[in-house]
Amino acid sequence: MKFGIIGAGLSALTCAGELRAAGHDVVLFDKGREPGGRMSTRGMATRFGEVRIDHGAACFDAVGTNFRAAVAAWRLEGLVVPWPAGGPNAWLGIPDMASLIARLAARYEVRWHTFVNGMTRDAHGNWHISSDHGPHGPLDAVITAVPAEQAVPFLALYDLEMARIASGARSRPCWAGLFVFQDALPAASLIVRTEGPIALAVCNRAKPLRVGPEAWVVHADAAWSSARVEQAGEDIAPLLLAALQEALRLPVLPSHEGVAHRWRHASSPGIGKAALWNPELKLGACGDWLTGSRAECAWTSGRALGRLAISTIRSGTPIVKKDDQCVSQSWR
Ligand SMILES: Cc1cc2nc3c(=O)[nH]c(=O)nc-3n(C[C@H](O)[C@H](O)[C@H](O)COP(=O)(O)OP(=O)(O)OC[C@H]3O[C@@H](n4cnc5c(N)ncnc54)[C@H](O)[C@@H]3O)c2cc1C
Repeated sequence: MKFGIIGAGLSALTCAGELRAAGHDVVLFDKGREPGGRMSTRGMATRFGEVRIDHGAACFDAVGTNFRAAVAAWRLEGLVVPWPAGGPNAWLGIPDMASLIARLAARYEVRWHTFVNGMTRDAHGNWHISSDHGPHGPLDAVITAVPAEQAVPFLALYDLEMARIASGARSRPCWAGLFVFQDALPAASLIVRTEGPIALAVCNRAKPLRVGPEAWVVHADAAWSSARVEQAGEDIAPLLLAALQEALRLPVLPSHEGVAHRWRHASSPGIGKAALWNPELKLGACGDWLTGSRAECAWTSGRALGRLAISTIRSGTPIVKKDDQCVSQSWR
């Protein structure tokens, strides 16, 4: 069968891996210009030099047995390294977080920079996807692997129950500040947790294989971000820089450049389901919003959906395994 997947983040790529292993064809569509999704890394050309900053997930934890096994395999392939400074279960993509997604995505046909704006099902039961690059199809099955709010419009036309479930998931935003300095900050610690509005701030120097000038990412907490979600990035960046300066107890900062990035659908607590699959329509949904708010939850959901779809196609019986649940634990 040929599957179309909307999104090419970690959940989508994990689902694609399961489907491919069972002999199915997969094509993925992602609006991003570059791979990453919410595990993105932004390249910045500043007057102090070029640098790449992980402005989505700064790292990820591997807690459950299955995900730990997958991460161990990635480590052997040179995609990730453990990061003891981030915690006992913390891992990093190398040379940056987006590289992990890019290297996983290279295994599949992914149409980057392609915004999917609709999907239709024809009289023969085939799916067709429409995008800003034109139509794609026919496809036997379609999967949404995007945040819940972005999945609802796709699901609502075909499966009201799935759309109702997705509507119940509420994402929280996260403002991220990306700051580059002329000189290294004389900071006592290169990682700051829960200080003022800061949920997490990390200096590139705290991570292996990051090169370029002194660079910090500052993630604001959900309450602070929610209260300012509609403000302009130019107004947010100075606030996050001031929060970093205060957290590091620095009287002055060296010359710097900075921007703020709004993650409107950064995280949601999960709804206690691993994945959604309608075997008659061959329509499914996966993503971290089903299982929890961590990268491991995205992986768990993508794997669960792949296995669920394969089991119904093979035997007509949906099989949901116990280990399809994520050991949930928020990243903030
Ligand atoms: C600021 C921040 C910090 C985080 N920190 C951590 C952390 O410390 N530890 C941790 O474990 N997790 C962390 N996370 C969470 C982690 O990044 C996510 O759980 C994981 O990346 C979600 O993967 P996903 O595949 O479900 O969704 P995404 O990665 O969001 O993938 C969805 C993809 O769909 C694409 N898309 C959406 N709509 C369309 C459309 N209409 N057409 C085409 N493409 C579309 C997007 O471009 C995106 O690439 C963090 C997330 C953020 C934002």
